Amino acid sequence: ASEPKYDYIVVGGGTSGLVVANRLSELSNVTVLVIEAGGSVYNNINVTDTGGYGNAFGTDIDWAYKTVEQKWGGGTTQTVRAGKALGGTSTINGMVYLRAQTSQIDAWEKIGNKGWNWENLYPYFKKGEQFQVPTDYSFLEGSGVAYDPAHHGYDGPLKVGWTSTQLNDGLAQVMNTTYQNMSVPIPYNKDPNGGQMIGYTLYPKTVNSDLNIREDAARAYYYPYQSRKNLHVWLHTNVNKLTWKDGAEVTADGVEITFSNGTTTSVKASREVILAAGALKSPLLLELSGIGNPDILSKYDIETKINLPTVGENLQDQMNNGLAYDSKINYTKSPDYVAYPSAEQLFRNATAVGAQLLRKLPAYAAQVASANGNVTRAADIERFFKIQWDLIFKSGIPVAEILLEPSGYTYDTEYWGSVPFSRGNIHISSADPTAPATIDPKYFMLDFDLHAQAQAARLIREIFKTEPFADMAGEETSPGLSTVAANSDDEGWSSFLKSNFRSNFHPITTAGMMPKEIGGVVDTSLKVYGTSNVRVVDASVIPFQVCGHLQSTIYAVAERAADIIKAQM
Ligand code: FAD
Repeated sequence: ASEPKYDYIVVGGGTSGLVVANRLSELSNVTVLVIEAGGSVYNNINVTDTGGYGNAFGTDIDWAYKTVEQKWGGGTTQTVRAGKALGGTSTINGMVYLRAQTSQIDAWEKIGNKGWNWENLYPYFKKGEQFQVPTDYSFLEGSGVAYDPAHHGYDGPLKVGWTSTQLNDGLAQVMNTTYQNMSVPIPYNKDPNGGQMIGYTLYPKTVNSDLNIREDAARAYYYPYQSRKNLHVWLHTNVNKLTWKDGAEVTADGVEITFSNGTTTSVKASREVILAAGALKSPLLLELSGIGNPDILSKYDIETKINLPTVGENLQDQMNNGLAYDSKINYTKSPDYVAYPSAEQLFRNATAVGAQLLRKLPAYAAQVASANGNVTRAADIERFFKIQWDLIFKSGIPVAEILLEPSGYTYDTEYWGSVPFSRGNIHISSADPTAPATIDPKYFMLDFDLHAQAQAARLIREIFKTEPFADMAGEETSPGLSTVAANSDDEGWSSFLKSNFRSNFHPITTAGMMPKEIGGVVDTSLKVYGTSNVRVVDASVIPFQVCGHLQSTIYAVAERAADIIKAQM
């Protein structure tokens, strides 16, 4: 039999891949194949249960990628979770649906990505969204849930709303008053999804509110469309690398794959190969296919097709820590209350912190470049850092996320500095596509990142001391004042933070969209530099961290990517 052939092959049936596959297969004369390493999780309770966050961790639908020992981050390895299933990481994530601050998306254009700005992306956030208008309003108002109808889309595939377990445990108003009573108040924000994120709110999630089950990329973008004759999905199939056409131009003609029974074969694409395997896989597939740093490729006897040394560089993630407290009240539901403080609200002396950081940026850039073997240049990194500095200290993006999660007689909190400056990298460690990669996010490499993390912890301590909430809370059980004393400086917080953090599971920029001269891997049409028909559409391309969680931005980028691909057909 002759090899099967499709117009487009999408590598990875995850969050971004299924969006692109869905939109391309709207054209009935176009054939699309999605190749996914995992299987269907349609009936997997660890996926569907809206209260089951974490239940899928460590199961066979979690890639559980391991980092190398984190030199600045406590010396140990970290696990970075990612979904291995049709629907990708959207099947195991926290379901939070929060976008970015307008200026953060505008920053993508500032570094040379013409057309990638908030104004152009905002319609794509809405295009994908099927906002479920809450029906029982009195109930909702008691729960603190609010929204601005103008900021939502109603006709898209992805259901967004609130779960019943998020609603009405009577704490919303208390927290609002508490935030207003802080020494530097944090205002109420009715709807942070319009691009202005500062404040305290109760966010929506990717859920089917009627059925009270998780909404993931497969439920939104695949299952309702699975009868399309031109849309095929192969599950339990690993893509090993791209295959190339002979000739002067670098043109992919398909991919090499291995089925679950161990058989290796290839499948052809007549138009394009679209990588959507996630930020911790797509750059590896490029390297395995001969696109990357020749020094790395030659180590594993991989012939360099395209010399693009920044493949796998610029890796950014956040660090997640928590403080825990006793509660005087027994909570039966699990609402999440979120606050997004600005630099003023987090640092208090923002002008001084900003001035000090500005002076350090050249040294930080040199440190990041050197820690990554100077593959990315200090001058370019410094420019990115200055843009990030402007975002923090001039355009007022949130600098941290603070989550309060009551359950039973406890309050858990989670928090992270939104925009750490550290950058690391990910590379292959073998020519064998099943071998684990070398992943090094370089958590806590820069002292500003530690300061933001410590300052967020201090802010939480203040919340628990502020009325009326203070009345409802008991003792701090972790770390506790005997471990980290009140008024501890950053050094005093350091050991607790570094030995108790985890990855915030938001890796990005490993195949960054940027001009090639400053380290980009893909251009503004998400095409890999030097290739005629290979694109990357997943979290790898996002050039700067966003302050909301990643998925809404990834869905929107993929929606826009599909339109770009269609326009170039
Ligand atoms: P993915 O969705 O990971 O898709 C990649 C797909 O490619 C996967 O299905 C994978 O199995 C497949 N694949 C990989 N390699 C191969 C190969 N060689 N061959 C074939 N297939 C392959 N974001 C939010 O907005 N809100 C949250 O609450 C939130 N919580 C999170 C909680 C956790 C535990 C995690 C891990 C992430 C969370 N995120 C959250 C982040 C967000 O979910 C991800 O950033 C996003 O889903 C990534 O989308 P993607 O398209 O880049 O990759």
